[in-house]
Amino acid sequence: MHVNTYRGAVAAADLGRTLMHEHVFVMAPELMINYPGYADWDEESVVCAAVTRLTDLKHAGIDTIVDLTVTPLGRNPPLIQRVAQACALNIVGATGIYVTNELPEYLKFRGPGLLSNEPEPLVELFVRDIEHGMADTGVRAGILKCATDRYGLTPDVERALRAVAQAHLRTGVPISTHTHAGREVGLVQQKVFAEEGVSLDRVIIGHSGDTVDLDYLQRLLDAGSYLGMDRFGFDVLVPFAERVRVVAELCRRGYADRLVLSHDAVCHHDAVPAKTMQALMPNYHMGHISADVIPALLQTGVSQEQIDQMLIGNPAQILGRCA
Ligand SMILES: [Zn+2]
Repeated sequence: MHVNTYRGAVAAADLGRTLMHEHVFVMAPELMINYPGYADWDEESVVCAAVTRLTDLKHAGIDTIVDLTVTPLGRNPPLIQRVAQACALNIVGATGIYVTNELPEYLKFRGPGLLSNEPEPLVELFVRDIEHGMADTGVRAGILKCATDRYGLTPDVERALRAVAQAHLRTGVPISTHTHAGREVGLVQQKVFAEEGVSLDRVIIGHSGDTVDLDYLQRLLDAGSYLGMDRFGFDVLVPFAERVRVVAELCRRGYADRLVLSHDAVCHHDAVPAKTMQALMPNYHMGHISADVIPALLQTGVSQEQIDQMLIGNPAQILGRCA
C-alpha cells in the first residue's frame, strides 16, 4: 500500500518514524490578505524557518509528519508543498474540518434541509481533496480530521463528524480527531462514527494524552480505536511525567499496537507569539519526543520494540490501509 504525501506516493512500509498530529502553519488567511505582515507573517521567512525546523527534525530521526491543519485553521497546500520540496521529510496532508461549535458562515446555509437544499457539500469537498488533490497542487489528502471539544456534539459538530465519516466510507482514508479528553468526547465521536458504519479501528481519537483517566482511555481502546498520545510538550495541561506514565501503563496493559505519539506542535502559529509559547511550554516543539520522551519511556520499562510499534508500525498500518 502507498500513502499520498506532499513529496508524492510513499510505500507505507517506507514512512519510517511518523508523528501523527503536527502542523506546519496555523494561520488566518483573511487577516493575511487584509493586513499584510500581521503577526510577523512574511511568506519567505516562515517557509524558510519551517524548512529549517523540519530538516532538523529529520536529522533527529523523524521521517514523516502528518499535517492535520484543515479549514478554517488556514490550510495552505501550495505553501506546504514548497516546504516539503525543500526538506527530506514526508508530509501527509489532511482534509476535513475543524469546528468545535458552529460552522463558519460560508458553510451554514448549503446542505440537506438548509437554505439551499443540496447534497452535503462537506463530503464533496473532502472527497475532492482525497481523490483529486488539494487546491490544484495534485497532492492528495491522506487522512480526514474533525473535532469535538467543550461544547460537545452541537448540531454543526455532528454534521462535520457525519460528513467526515461519509467521506471515509467513500474513500477509505483514515480519520483522526481533536477531542477535549477531560469531557470524554472521544466516546461521543465513536458513537457517531459507529452509527455511520465506520469501523472504529480506522479512527484515531486524538488528544487522548490530555487525561490521566485510564478507565476512559481503556473504554476507547476496547471499542477498537487508536489513541493519539499526541500532545507531548503541552505540559500545562498534563505534566511530562504523567504523559509518560500513562503511555507506559497502556503499553504494560498490551495496547502498544493502538497508540500513536506526537506533539500537536506548529512551525508557525499566528494566534500566539512563538516567544510566549516558548516561555509557557518550553517542551512544546517537534523535537521533544526524540530528545526526551523516548528516553523517558525506555526508562519506565517500555521496550524499544513497543516504541517502534507506536512510531513506525502503527502509523504505517493506519495510513497504509484503505478499506
Ligand atoms: Zn492539532
